[in-house]
Amino acid sequence: MTIKEIKCRSILTRSGGYLQSVCTHSMNPYVGCGYGKTLCGTGCYVQSNGWLTRGREWGSFLEVKSNAAEVYCKTCGREMRWAHRKDRPFSIFLSSSTEPWQPAEQKYRITRGLLIAMQADPPDALILQTHSTRILEDQELIANLSSVTNLRVHISIETDRENFAGLPKHACSVEDRIETVRMLSEAGVFIVVCMAPLLPVQQPEKFFEKLVQAGAKAVVIDHFIEGDGTVNGSRTLKTPLPEKMNAVLPASVHLDYRNKIASIAGRFLPTGVSSAGFAGHFSSV
Ligand code: SF4
Repeated sequence: MTIKEIKCRSILTRSGGYLQSVCTHSMNPYVGCGYGKTLCGTGCYVQSNGWLTRGREWGSFLEVKSNAAEVYCKTCGREMRWAHRKDRPFSIFLSSSTEPWQPAEQKYRITRGLLIAMQADPPDALILQTHSTRILEDQELIANLSSVTNLRVHISIETDRENFAGLPKHACSVEDRIETVRMLSEAGVFIVVCMAPLLPVQQPEKFFEKLVQAGAKAVVIDHFIEGDGTVNGSRTLKTPLPEKMNAVLPASVHLDYRNKIASIAGRFLPTGVSSAGFAGHFSSV
C-alpha cells in the first residue's frame, strides 16, 4: 500500500445525498482505506467514487490528512453557524468514506487528534462509524466525549458468519466486534450495530440475542439495494459481492431480505432501516 501525508484545506464536508438526513457534516481523516482488501472492502461503496480513487485500486493507497485537527479547530465555528442557520444541530459523521481506526491510525493518530479537538470544540451530535476493534484504543476519550456531545458509536457487523466462501477475511472477527460492543457499552457509550450492507445471516435470533447481551442499544439494517447510494444497488452490482451473497443465500440479494431480517431484529432491539436508521430513528416490533 502507498501511504503519503497530505495537508487538507477542509475537513468538514457539508452532507448531501444519502447522508443529508443523517447529519450536517461528514469528516474523513484519511483518503482511501487500509481495510480495502478485506471482506468489507469487496463491496465498499467508496471504491466507485472516482473523484476519491482517481483510478487507483481500492485498498492500494492511503492519504493521511496530517493537519486534520488544526483545520477542524479553525473551521468548526463557521460550520456550526451554517448548520444552525438551517435550524439543524451541528452533527458530524466520522467517517463516511474511510475507516477512522484502520491500521495506519496507530502511527498517525489523525482520528485521535480529531477526538481531542472535538473535546474542546464539540459538535452538537457525533456519530463514530467503525469496523475496527482498534476503536478501543480511544475508549476513554470517547467515553469523555459522551458528556459533551450527543454521541452514538456505530459498530459495523454485517453478518454473524466469520467466513464467507470466496471472499477475503473480515478485518476484525465478528466475535471481537461483539466484544467491542460490550466494552464500549460498559463504559457508558451508546452503541448501535450496523448491518450495512446486510450479508446472509446464519442464525439471526441467536445473533440479535448476543447483541442484546453485549449491551447494544439498537441495530440498523441496510441492504446494498437503496443503501449504496443508488436505487437498484447498481454500484454494488459492479463488484463481486452480490454473486458471493447469492451463492450463500439467494434470497439475500433481494430487498425483501432486509425487511425480513429487520422484522426479526425488531423482536430483540430497537431497529432502524436504511438512512432513517443511520439518522437514529428506531422502532421495535
Ligand atoms: S472499513 Fe469502511 S471504508 Fe474501509 S473498506 Fe471497509 S467499508 Fe470501505
